[in-house]
Amino acid sequence: MQPLYHKHSLKVFNSLSRKKEAFTPIKEGYVGLYVCGPTVYSNVHLGNCRTFMSFDTIYRYLLHLGYKVRYVRNITDAGHLENDADAGEDKIAKKAKLEQIEPMEVVQKYTVDFHRTLEHFNLLPPSIEPTATGHIIEQIEIIKEILDKGFAYEVNGSVYFDVQKFNESNDYGKLSGRSIEDMVANTRALQGQSEKKNPQDFALWKKAEPTHIMRWPSPWGDGFPGWHIECTAMSTKYLGEQFDIHGGGMDLKFPHHECEIAQAEASKGKSPVNYWLHANMLTLNGKKMSKSTDNNIYPSELFSGENKLFSKPFSAAVVRFFMLQAHYTSVLDLSEEALDAAEKGYFRLLESFSTLEGLSSKEGIENDPTIEQWVNRCYEAMNDDFNTPILIAQLFEGVKIINLINDQKKTVSSEDLVLISQTMRTFFFDVLGLFDSRNSDAKQEGQLKGLVELLLKERSEARARKDFQRSDEIRDAIEALGIKLKDTKDGTTFSLS
Ligand SMILES: [Zn+2]
Repeated sequence: MQPLYHKHSLKVFNSLSRKKEAFTPIKEGYVGLYVCGPTVYSNVHLGNCRTFMSFDTIYRYLLHLGYKVRYVRNITDAGHLENDADAGEDKIAKKAKLEQIEPMEVVQKYTVDFHRTLEHFNLLPPSIEPTATGHIIEQIEIIKEILDKGFAYEVNGSVYFDVQKFNESNDYGKLSGRSIEDMVANTRALQGQSEKKNPQDFALWKKAEPTHIMRWPSPWGDGFPGWHIECTAMSTKYLGEQFDIHGGGMDLKFPHHECEIAQAEASKGKSPVNYWLHANMLTLNGKKMSKSTDNNIYPSELFSGENKLFSKPFSAAVVRFFMLQAHYTSVLDLSEEALDAAEKGYFRLLESFSTLEGLSSKEGIENDPTIEQWVNRCYEAMNDDFNTPILIAQLFEGVKIINLINDQKKTVSSEDLVLISQTMRTFFFDVLGLFDSRNSDAKQEGQLKGLVELLLKERSEARARKDFQRSDEIRDAIEALGIKLKDTKDGTTFSLS
């Protein structure tokens, strides 16, 4: 069978050309996808989750179309300074000092949190998840190449990219739509940055001061890499000097992605990425999310309901569904009202799967051409730059068809019934990555607790009628399952772990 991508023509919005373009991979059947991962110095916030979820959905659809995708998403565990203009402390080193632990303990703690949170949202793991600290040698090699080509200079143990020199032969600012003249006009030379020839220049390698804890030897002395160079080093290593799709949050377009393009063009002499995709931000109650103004919520607070902003908990599946109801390039606002509405829609779709199970087809009738047209509309939605809100609208059209059949207002052939069922399942579960939250761990734990409590009630009744044999039997049976019991004067308590 031919892969689906032969049948469907995918279009993507390329931030570089600012146009929707037909997607053609460099090598037929294969897609190289790179997405900038998190800087692991704090718990992952919901806005970042939206970005990673957007690219997870894109990854899932590419897989569904039959592409072999190598998906690389890095972990930034060094080199990201507090200030994007190469100033301030390393975010991870700062946190390590604050918590009085090793930088790698910070990295481990927040990498684990990141993975757990994304698992809740049912994100597929990337094919490769490289770390910046694991690729110091590769970063040094590319810096050497940029120096050799004359696009960087060394000052006092640090190496800076020469933006003006690069712009003479290339176009710095083409991704973000900024001109170097505007950048020069809008930047003041800050004190303490006098090492740079121009304020626009960015660090490829920074000299480590004696107190700096994260440091590596290099041809320029002990130091650490600049933030942007890691993505150039890791994308080149795993996807080649030119690859298909580079994604990330809109906020990374400048300076991070602009610098990535400059580094790759300066070292390899060619444009590194064919399609740049950017996911837009998530606001909360109409305002930008920010820790300093308290207009902020972590995923775990949303799931547990323990927060000041929402009156009840929302499952990860509902939050995922809510996020996919907007196109990834649009700003999306999170509010209780919007989540409530998403929850209703999500359950309506889930219920249709139960209804589907009870449907029957009719023998000897022709296939209905409108069913196939509906299937095509689902694909058209995703082929149009992964338009998940339109796809979801089409899935609700599917629910209408299912309900008509259920109400015996419509009859379908067995082939059509299979097609409806497959299409609903494929898009809901495989492509959108949604799942049935009713089977979540929390729910199962609740059910288990209920059953244990029921048994404990029976045990205390047995004790009350002095049937100690039965009471011991129940106790042994519960404990044999690994559930610990503790008798107190107020009754029996238990713990599941
Ligand atoms: Zn990056």
